[in-house]
This record gives sequence, structure tokens and C-alpha cells, in this order.
Amino acid sequence: MIILYIFLGAIFGSFLNVLIHRMPLNKSIILPSSHCPKCKESIMWYNNIPIISYLLLKGKSSCCNKHITLRYPIVELLSSLLWVWSYFYLNTYHYQILFLIISSCLLVIFFTDYNQFFIPVELNFIIFLSALLHFLIFDINNMQYHFFSMIVLSVYFLVLLLLSSYLLKKETMGYGDIILIAVTTFWVGLIDGMIIIFIASIFSIIHWIVLKIITKDENIILPFGSTISLAAILLFVLKHTFKIETNLF
Ligand SMILES: [Zn+2]
Repeated sequence: MIILYIFLGAIFGSFLNVLIHRMPLNKSIILPSSHCPKCKESIMWYNNIPIISYLLLKGKSSCCNKHITLRYPIVELLSSLLWVWSYFYLNTYHYQILFLIISSCLLVIFFTDYNQFFIPVELNFIIFLSALLHFLIFDINNMQYHFFSMIVLSVYFLVLLLLSSYLLKKETMGYGDIILIAVTTFWVGLIDGMIIIFIASIFSIIHWIVLKIITKDENIILPFGSTISLAAILLFVLKHTFKIETNLF
């Protein structure tokens, strides 16, 4: 059974790679089939096996011998790890599916926001819809609290965004970040939502310091969506691995 999770997770990871590559370019995610981004040659199935092909080809494409980005095997490996983790720590299929859909969306957002400062609105919608279905079918008693949590944090950050961009005369945060905060909070609730933002802020400060030292740039733009996605996955995984209780009510 565990082999199946490792395998499916890696296969699903290569689909996530397609999303990461194509969504910011507004390209269809189904057609055309996998092709080399450098020379447009179609990729044969035996050169498109997650992780293994990358290792066998030593990171070079078989068609034009160009360097393949390390992001491909990394995303496949991370996806596989999320699947394996859900197998061990989430006890029902329904919790596993909910977690895998949402964490996969967050994984894609992590990379699109990091590479292109782009948060696909469709993925936010999928996160919201999955959480909504979960509450409607399995957890109706908690829906009101999670909905209220979402409203509180999104209104708070919307006011913060409008106020700070008015006072500082520059864009401090994107609307994409706020929508991501909203849907993530709808999934995890107010307390966890606030912890996620707190962890994400610490990550962003560290990221800023590192970029400042390396580039000495005056105008550093940070992908806050990436740090929120990372913080959300980390908090959920740590909470369920070590059975940590964070909700006060
Ligand atoms: Zn090629």
C-alpha cells in the first residue's frame, strides 16, 4: 500500500510541475502533452518517469541535452512525501484527500509566487471549495467558526493593505496574498490562521535579510504567498505529527 502512495504522489507531482510551468503563462494544462520547454520536442513516456528519469538522464534532456531544472524532481519528491505522510498520519481517506488537494495547491502556489509573483486564483478557489465541501458533508458544526475566521482575517489584512499602500505610497501586499490568507484561514480556522501568518512573516524577514546581504537591492519584493503556503503546510504537518492542540475554543 505504501508503495502505491509513493508512486501516486510522484506521478501527481509531475502534474503539479505542469501546473507550476503553465499556469503563470496562462497555457492549457491538458494539451499539448509533455514537451521539452527548450526545443519543443515531445517527451517519450520512458523519459518522463518522475524522479527516476531525472536521475537516469543526469539532469539533461534526452532531446537537446539541455539542463533540466532541479525543480522537477524536487516537486515530485515533495508531492510523494506529502502522500506518504498523509498515509501515516491522517486516519481516513476523506482527511487524506482533503489534505492532499489543499497541500498540492499550496505547493504549486509556493513555486509560482516564488518564480513569478503569481498566485493562480483557480487554486485559491479549489482550496476554498474543498474546505467548504468538507464542512458541509463531515463537519457542519465547525463551518460557522471557520467562515467567521476567514472574514475576520481577510478584512483585517484588506484594511492593512489599503492603509499601508496609502501611507507608504507603494504596494505593500498583493490582493492575491489576501485571498490566499482568506482561503487558508477558512481551512484551518482563526488561531491556526494567525499562527501561519506569524510563521510566514518570520520566514519573510529571514528571506529579506538574505536577499539584502546577497543583492544589496533597495527595492526587495518578497513572495509572501510562498511563505504563507510553506507555513500552512508545515503547521498542519507538525500539528498532526506531534498531536499539538492549538485551538482555544
Ligand atoms: Zn529539448
